[in-house]
Amino acid sequence: MPNTVIEQAPAQVQAPFDVARLRQDFPVLAREVHGKPLIYLDNAATSQTPQQVIDVFSDYYSRYNANIHRGLHTLADEATAAFEGTRHKVRAFLNAEDARQIIFTRGTTEAINLVVQSWGRKNLAPGDEVLISMLEHHSNIVPWQLLAAEIGFTIKVIPVEANGALDMAAYRALLSESTKLVAVNHVSNALGTINPVQEMAALAHQHGALILIDGAQAAPHQVVDVQAIDADFYAFSGHKVYGPTGVGVLYGKQALLEAMPPWQGGGEMIKTVSFGAGTTFADFPHKFEAGTPAIAEVIALGRALEWVESVGVAAIGEWEGQLLDRATQAAGRIDGLRILGTAPQKAGVLSFVVEGAHSQDIGLLIDQLGVAIRTGHHCAQPLLHHFGVDATCRASFAAYNTFEEVDSFIEALNRVIGMVR
Ligand SMILES: *Cc1c(COP(=O)(O)O)cnc(C)c1O
Repeated sequence: MPNTVIEQAPAQVQAPFDVARLRQDFPVLAREVHGKPLIYLDNAATSQTPQQVIDVFSDYYSRYNANIHRGLHTLADEATAAFEGTRHKVRAFLNAEDARQIIFTRGTTEAINLVVQSWGRKNLAPGDEVLISMLEHHSNIVPWQLLAAEIGFTIKVIPVEANGALDMAAYRALLSESTKLVAVNHVSNALGTINPVQEMAALAHQHGALILIDGAQAAPHQVVDVQAIDADFYAFSGHKVYGPTGVGVLYGKQALLEAMPPWQGGGEMIKTVSFGAGTTFADFPHKFEAGTPAIAEVIALGRALEWVESVGVAAIGEWEGQLLDRATQAAGRIDGLRILGTAPQKAGVLSFVVEGAHSQDIGLLIDQLGVAIRTGHHCAQPLLHHFGVDATCRASFAAYNTFEEVDSFIEALNRVIGMVR
């Protein structure tokens, strides 16, 4: 065979990540806290909001505030078009097949509760098993517990390894004919562990089980492709992806959504209502969207996703990875500081405890220096108890954080530890 010379494409010249420019989109970053410049490192709890998203609210309420879908007037048409426009943007953001697979909820929590109450109530019975993981947020634990207490199916927990990675051998061993659904987060909010959800989905499907993925911490930081993952359900929240509170998303496979019963009744979700002949329901997604939704919030979510894509979600994740590396190395040099969660695949979350210092005290004192971190159980009490602690300090990064902020945070942390020890 003759040697073929493969023409190499010229290396892509990457535009540098222009953090100084994108920070200007966020008015809150200009404020001071206790007389110090704000260093906001609580992004895993909620991200800050760019002006472009804030503007959606005044624009909507001053120009085209109207209820959607049923109106025939201009304002209602405009509001409906903008609202449904977000459904198409979310479809593209998740690479879903069809915009009808995008259901708007109040957040990740409500999206999971929808699956539990609609799919779960219809399909689970005593003897069935739902696998969740040790890494789950309470919102992917408690809804299952509530339904299990009523119906009597079994919840089994996939354990974690010492570094906070899921124990995949244990996962394989837990899967059986009885497994009906696996519910795991894509990225842990408490430790930052990125779970191999594509592999987990394939294994679940081999056993005839479905997989629900809580993507609250993944959507802001990495490209999510629900078809490549082969997710049956995927959920995320607007307020963690530079959007507003009060809105979230559930993606579901079409055949599943088709067969699932409504979970809340009311306006918007019906075809016909009668007292005698029975009430018929709208097709999905409207079947699952009873009542007037958070219209302005949904429109603003669409704007937030545009903002994210203008920066590039992969570029954001890469930037946050560099911030995490810098913070991890510096924190590792602090005497008595222990990092929880050192899995090889990690998003921008640094969770730690300090010997001889209460996490609460660190959080309060570092706030006096302008640094916002989170302290507590991060809605993942079973996980923290597994690691033998009640609380950690957690710094979590977003697109607008800088190396200088990481350095200031570490400096502030050293000062605070000196004060409390
Ligand atoms: C924040 C979070 C949730 C809950 O999201 P809400 O917006 O409060 O509904 C669920 N899972 C994970 C991993 C989270 O980080």
